[in-house]
Amino acid sequence: MSQALSPHPAIPRPADEAARLEALRSYALLDSEADADFDFLAEMAALICEVPYAVITLVDAERVWVKSSFGRQAQQLPRDEEYCSWTILEESSLHIPNLSADARTAYLPLTTGEPHYMMYCGANLITSDGYRIGALCVMDTQMRALSGQQVRMLTRLACQVMALIELRAKDRELSAALSVMQKLATYDDLTGLLNRRALLARLQEEVERARRIVHPLSIIMLDLDHFKQINDSHGHLAGDVVLHGVGKFMKDRLRVTDSAGRYGGEEICLILPGTTLEDAAAVAEKLRQALASSSFATSGGSISVSASFGVVSGQPGPELSPEALLDAADRAMYRAKENGRDRVEAGQEI
Ligand code: GH3
Ligand code: MG
Ligand code: MG
Repeated sequence: MSQALSPHPAIPRPADEAARLEALRSYALLDSEADADFDFLAEMAALICEVPYAVITLVDAERVWVKSSFGRQAQQLPRDEEYCSWTILEESSLHIPNLSADARTAYLPLTTGEPHYMMYCGANLITSDGYRIGALCVMDTQMRALSGQQVRMLTRLACQVMALIELRAKDRELSAALSVMQKLATYDDLTGLLNRRALLARLQEEVERARRIVHPLSIIMLDLDHFKQINDSHGHLAGDVVLHGVGKFMKDRLRVTDSAGRYGGEEICLILPGTTLEDAAAVAEKLRQALASSSFATSGGSISVSASFGVVSGQPGPELSPEALLDAADRAMYRAKENGRDRVEAGQEI
């Protein structure tokens, strides 16, 4: 396959090629953005070896991708045209003082054509599991041999490149784990809405914002009607499916500035910043009608559910607090229950 991509003879693949490629890909470094820390290590390699050119390469299945280059902008090349495809066949490093005189490299385009490299030394990037995923390489257009100390230093520097690769991978894993944890800590599993703690925190923020920018703040509290009966007739799991559906239903219908959270078992609180009592009551009425005419598909058939809504609004002032809003919304919602359910009751402004 490699010969189809390059007119040059295939450079042998290492015996552990499949596992090596898997290791390389686990770092998600191929085609990644430029990174100044890698550039710095490439520059260090050139300085230590007293040569004009250095590259950090990753040896992919059919190409050699350049993570960083110093001295000249190096491009990715077919694997069968790159010196470091030979390097990864060596234990630690490959030093060729005269590229034109070595059968492995004399025919390669970087030797025979621009930039006419004459010397190459590459030190392998070796993972903790022992896979050679690429190399830290230095090149010169002069024929010359590096000192033993320079080769040793290059090898040590390649370990630093590898340590940086590991660090970047750990950073990525950590931030992925962090965002999963943040999601778990913020959202309710079943409804996908904010959990109670995050809901109360958001309400506190919105109360402070309403005071600061002097705008009204409304909340809607809704409780599903006769939900115990739904559980009793269709089973708790079907009840869960309905709750999940109601969560999505609410989320899909709110503006981006609004928030929705699970306040209790089947009690949902909506926060509507910058919304008057009249407008919030209209929102609640729309939601009520839409919910009452919807149904949720469960394994036991489709289930309809209605809800009772309590709406309150607060004007910025010393009286406005999350507790006062929640208490008033709860009372309005209970009035809706008392007055027959599947209805909206608006409380007084706070
Ligand atoms: P109403 O509100 O109309 O007065 O009647 P209700 O039957 O809904 O009564 P209430 O609000 O007091 O009861 C809530 C029921 O919701 C009881 C509880 O088992 C059920 N519930 C609460 N959380 C969950 C849940 O996560 N999953 C399921 N399936 N049911 C839940
Ligand atoms: Mg209920
Ligand atoms: Mg309830």
